[in-house]
Amino acid sequence: MIKTAIHNAENYADLRFSFSWEDERKNLDGLPGRAGLNMVHEAVDRHADGALCDHVALRWIRGDRAARDFTYHDLKVLSSQFANVLTALGISKGDTVFTLLGRVPELYITALGTLRKTAVYCPLFSVFGPEPVFQRLSKGKAKILVTTLEQYEKKIKGIVGMLPDLKHVLITDINLDLDDLVLSLPFLMNKMSGVFQIPPTSLEDPALLHFTSGTTGMPKGALHVHGAVLMHYVTGKYVLDFQPDDIFWCTADPGWVTGTSYGILAPLVNGVTNVVDEEEFDAARWYSILEEQKVTTWYTSPTAIRRLMRLNVKPREQYNLERLRLILSVGEPLHAEAVRWGEQTFGIPILDNWWQTETGGIMIANFPSLEVKPGSMGKPLPGIEAAIAEVTPDGIRMIAEPNVSGNLVLKKGWPSMFRTYLNEEERYQKCFRGEWYVTGDLARRDEEGYFWFVGRADDIIKTSGHMVGPFEVEKSLMSHHSVAEAAVIGKPDPLIGEMVKAFVVLKPGEDASAELRLDIMAHARKTLGPAVAPKEIAFVDSLPKTKSGKTLRRLLKARELGLPEGDLSTLEK
Ligand code: AMP
Repeated sequence: MIKTAIHNAENYADLRFSFSWEDERKNLDGLPGRAGLNMVHEAVDRHADGALCDHVALRWIRGDRAARDFTYHDLKVLSSQFANVLTALGISKGDTVFTLLGRVPELYITALGTLRKTAVYCPLFSVFGPEPVFQRLSKGKAKILVTTLEQYEKKIKGIVGMLPDLKHVLITDINLDLDDLVLSLPFLMNKMSGVFQIPPTSLEDPALLHFTSGTTGMPKGALHVHGAVLMHYVTGKYVLDFQPDDIFWCTADPGWVTGTSYGILAPLVNGVTNVVDEEEFDAARWYSILEEQKVTTWYTSPTAIRRLMRLNVKPREQYNLERLRLILSVGEPLHAEAVRWGEQTFGIPILDNWWQTETGGIMIANFPSLEVKPGSMGKPLPGIEAAIAEVTPDGIRMIAEPNVSGNLVLKKGWPSMFRTYLNEEERYQKCFRGEWYVTGDLARRDEEGYFWFVGRADDIIKTSGHMVGPFEVEKSLMSHHSVAEAAVIGKPDPLIGEMVKAFVVLKPGEDASAELRLDIMAHARKTLGPAVAPKEIAFVDSLPKTKSGKTLRRLLKARELGLPEGDLSTLEK
């Protein structure tokens, strides 16, 4: 076991014992005049109006490596201007504002400005193709979309007519409006005042919408409330262990939940400097950013770590990484070798932690002050009760014995728990058994209370850390004129965790040729985007089905991997 230095959560056991949400809540401000609690007041205004006014809140590193700083004061002014833009465009409390952007300043300004307005912010993964973008904009009843001209022309122009709720598309990189619908964001921003008083906001007012995939059906919109900011504060303090002069770098894509909770909110709520790199993974660039920006706290993913592990680079010999004191990882299993590699390469273990879109913040973590058991996700955050249980359609039985695999469940009621799946209350209710939220993951807990990831209880795929719902991919494949049926699985991959593999049944008379395979693949890439489309396609004569007609993806996966086929009593012969 490896022990790290002692930090904010000095003694995990004591903290767990003495912790209370009410006490931690006292570290937040609340809106002046008892007007409630708003995320952007906690993340920006209270610092902008205080000692951190000129402190760098966001350091944006452009593709060409030029850096642009935004102080807490700058973020207050810019997000106020954006909130005024929303008012001018007739946006009200609770309306949804989407981004389809990479890591550019406009994304951060939109997110903060939307929260300031008390509208609901929803980011979209910028690598999605037109189909997933349409599904989410439509389901989320997007009123405003902020994007670039290129994205607009490629993915939005063709679907605006099918989005009756969409009032405007705001383009970040044009100076003149295209027409009455498609407006120039810089032009609008320039006209607006930098003063906008946050309206009264209750803890339960909707703030964030994050789409996530289910095994069946189309993506679900997990809705989070302003009160979730307490979780961002607490996890920033105890897991990311923020200290006043920290320089934090979260490499997550801003289109997914980590990009919002930890790529925007947690560092700002804790008043530290948040580094944002416009570019995607590049080992040499990343090591230089760690050095040049004097990053203290680095939050990344197992896929990125595996990429770094493959290269024979000894970063501490080539780069000055003296200030780097914490490396954390989330999104997929972080194997013991990666934790040890961190120890050998950086002199500190990589701290794995676990959470998901629905939980809104970190739930289980390796705390800097706790013994690290390489390969384990760590222990529950103080204030969070996690357990292993056997779950049936209408019941739950807690498993007390250690080292028994079961469903990972969480006791309801933490501040950032999702409040519903947008317009799908029934789907939401199905996630709970009494007081317990069923996460969809399988795990075990050891004698010392450490949790170990076992797998997913469903068919969800995690590829390069991105969650992919098989149904959405299958639907796209079946929209190809030669495809009769399709089923999709996650096939283990040493680099990206899992790759999307499809099994396709062709329509009668179609020739299972290499050209057709490429054509189907190209169709999927075009509609879904390259990060989601299958990397492998196998033609099969039929798909294994249950007697009620459901495709048995788990059987396809077992056969693909040469694993035992399990209980086949429901298989249609
Ligand atoms: P998302 O909702 O996209 O953030 O994905 C959440 C899912 O990613 C979880 O339910 C897990 O299946 C997986 N996941 C997240 N963190 C970890 C981790 N530390 N170890 C293993 N799986 C993880």
